[in-house]
Order: sequence, then structure tokens, then C-alpha cells
Amino acid sequence: DNASPTKAPQVDPKHFQPLGSWSTEDIKDAVSSHVMCTWSPGKAKNSLPIITHANHIYLYDSDGKEYMDWTSQAVCTNAGHSLSPRVTTAIHEQMNNLHFVYGGIAMTEIRARLSSLISELLPGDLVGCLFPSSGSEANEAAIAMARRFTGRPKILSFYRSYHGGTKNSLSATGDYRRHFQQDSSGFVKAFNFTPSFFEHAGEDEAERVQSALLMLEEQIISEGAETIASIVLESIPGSAGVLTMPHAYMQGVRAICDKYSILLHIDEVMCGFGRTGEMWGFQNYPGVLPDIVTSAKGLSASVAPISFVAINEKMMEFFEENPVGWGSTFQGHPVAMAAAYAILTEVLTSNLIGHVKSVAPIFEEHMRHCAEVHPSILNYRSIGLYGALDIATPDGRQPHATHEARTTATTRYFDSFRENGLLGLFRAPIIHIAPPLIINEEEIQEGFARQHRALDVLDEELG
Ligand code: PLP
Repeated sequence: DNASPTKAPQVDPKHFQPLGSWSTEDIKDAVSSHVMCTWSPGKAKNSLPIITHANHIYLYDSDGKEYMDWTSQAVCTNAGHSLSPRVTTAIHEQMNNLHFVYGGIAMTEIRARLSSLISELLPGDLVGCLFPSSGSEANEAAIAMARRFTGRPKILSFYRSYHGGTKNSLSATGDYRRHFQQDSSGFVKAFNFTPSFFEHAGEDEAERVQSALLMLEEQIISEGAETIASIVLESIPGSAGVLTMPHAYMQGVRAICDKYSILLHIDEVMCGFGRTGEMWGFQNYPGVLPDIVTSAKGLSASVAPISFVAINEKMMEFFEENPVGWGSTFQGHPVAMAAAYAILTEVLTSNLIGHVKSVAPIFEEHMRHCAEVHPSILNYRSIGLYGALDIATPDGRQPHATHEARTTATTRYFDSFRENGLLGLFRAPIIHIAPPLIINEEEIQEGFARQHRALDVLDEELG
């Protein structure tokens, strides 16, 4: 009995068998009874494939079926699934030498090295680094820092955005708002610059950008500019549909921040580390420099859970004298930092970002072709290895989360997506395509051949 002070708790002896020895039935039973899902109702878990192993950009399930990793999981397995011996050795060495020391009571070489490497990779005067365990926590910390540094209470973010699932990062998030709204005092939402939203705001893009910026400034003045600590935005809103913005819009946002002494916090959790063909997504807008950058995902290419927050020199000086006032036990975890450091040095030595740039036109051509030949697809956006297809909407406008209603059609599409050997995220009415950054030209071709077969089913359903 488990209450005895001398006896070890009794558990099923199956738990002492080596990993890999459970039957598929054992796994399914445990999944059905004990496993939970987060963003979807839990029973969805029972129809998910059981992945047993992976190699390069392919994953294999318990029936031996092969899938191409078509959205890099949650846009994070940037280096694919086969780690080089350099990476695994670096992780093992860190584990063997020192697997953990709490970041508040001791420093380590790996922390010094990763902080300085990231500062070197960031332009401008971004110097200070923190290493929480997820993108959500990085944004949580960054929001706390912005408020503390400025002494201002409000955070301005955008309706089409995803910044995380913790209290402040979820409050800054626009996507999913209808479903997961919680107390979000101190958060103000603005409309993104999306061409379809501003389609009547002027003759050409320059006029539309001007209208969007005037509206943003009007909102800031109405809120009281002196109450706004930071503007938080993704350089290219990803979950919301890879919404690239005009360069002039981003320059305008930077200018508004300067005018009202508001910090510009760019969330690079999804775009960072080469996804768009630049090290940072904001480098697609030359000259636009943030005051705070957060990133995660590609930092360790998912080998270990780790994110970062980097801040400008003025903030760094402030936090030399003041505490951040946010923390978590596993921030600055040495093993996670060793994984990130090894992956990053590999990204640099193999010029992975140069590779993304070189295959990006081929990828974009396939994206364009999907939108051209499939009546179910209204249009596409693509940058680097980061693409979105918009499922055609009844009113012919760019789809919005409110168009989710066409679920029967999209359920059949998604079944066929998997049957055709693709594994990826799907949130109707947007189809994201974001394969691992190591994908080559033939594999891009093969992935899109599979994608076309799945879209044929969507055409039939919507036709
Ligand atoms: N910010 C952006 C732009 C994201 O895309 C995500 C996750 O998809 C997050 C923040 C949250 O990161 P995490 O899921 O690691 O907490």
C-alpha cells in the first residue's frame, strides 16, 4: 500500500520495462485514460498517430507509415530530426559535467557564451539576455520588464497575433481571444496592417500605410501615450497567417515608438533563427530595430525547451540596479543552453540561412501554383520557408478565424493531408506550410506533390 512509510510506492511493473517495449495497444490505452491535450478537446488525442521515430525531415508512426514534417511541428524543428554527433556530444558533455545549477545563485560558462553569441547575432544595442523555457515565458518576462522599466501599465498588441499561453502573453495575444479570454487589464489591441482591412483606405499602399499609422497613433493618444510601456508585435504574424507588412508600416511603428518613448518589443518566437531567410524576421524591414526581442523555437531547433529575451543597453543599465521581478526555476538551464549553443553554432557554420534564401524562390513558386490551380485556395503568402494558403471564403475576402465554420470540408481535407503522408498543424481557414529549414529542392517538390493531392480533396468538398 502506497501509504506505508517504508515501502516504495507500488506501480505497474510495466513502468520498469525499457522505452520502446510497450505494445501499440498499451500506448493507446494509456493515452486514452491519462493523456491530456491543450488547445483542442482532449478526445482529439485518440486519432493522432503514435510517432515512434524520426529521421531527417520524416517521421514514422507505429504502423510504419512515413510522414514528411510539413510545419516543422509547431514551426520549431528547424534542423530536422537527425542530430549531428557534435550536437549530441555537446549535450552529453554538459549533462555529465553539470546538468543543473540554479541561475540565481551561480553562473556558468555556457550561459556566458550563449548570452554573448546571441548579442553578437542581434543588430543594434541589444545586449542583455535571459533564457526562460518557452516563448510564452519569454514574452511574460519581456512584458514585466517593459512595465518595470517605463513605470507605465499598458501593453499595446495586435488582434492578429499569438504571443503565448501564460497570463500576460495570452493577454497580449489576439488569436484565440474569443475562446480563451481572461482578465486582461492593462492590454490594448490594435488592428494589424492587413491589405484587406485597409483596402478602402487609399489608392495605393503608401496611402493605406499612412491611414493605418494615423489610426494607430490616434489610438495611442486616446489611451494616453504616457500609459503605454511597449508595443508588442510579431515581425511577421505567423499563426495569424504569415502576414508580411510593408516596410513603411514597420518604419512608421518604430517612429511612433520613438515619438512617445514607447518600447518596441518584437516577438521573434516563430520567425527568429532563419525561418524567413534572415536571421531575424525584423531584418526583412531594414533599419527597424527593436528595443526588446524575444525568441524560442529555432533557438535550440526544439532539441530542448529554451527561449530568450534580449533588451537594449538602457534597459540593461536599469536592470543592473533593479530586479526584473520575474523568474522560473529552469530558466538558464545548462543542458538546454548547451543544446541551443551547439545548434546555433551548427546553423552558422553550415550557413543554413543562406540555404533557406536559396530555396525560398522554389518554395514560393510552389505556393503560388497551389493558389493558382486549386479553386479552394484564395491566395497565398510566402517568405523564406514560411508560407500560408488562405482557404477560399464565401465573401472572397482574406479569411479570418471567424470563418472556421466550414469544418466538415476541412476535416476531410485534414484526413487526406495525413493519408498523403504529411504531418503538420492545421487551423482552418489557414493552411500553414513551414518545413524544416534543411529541406532540399527535391523534398520541397515531393511535399507539394502530397499537398496537391490533399488540396484536390478540399476542392471537391468546397466545389
Ligand atoms: N510567440 C509567437 C510568435 C509564437 O508563434 C508562439 C508559439 O507558437 C509563442 C510566442 C509562444 O511560444 P511557446 O509555445 O514556446 O510558449
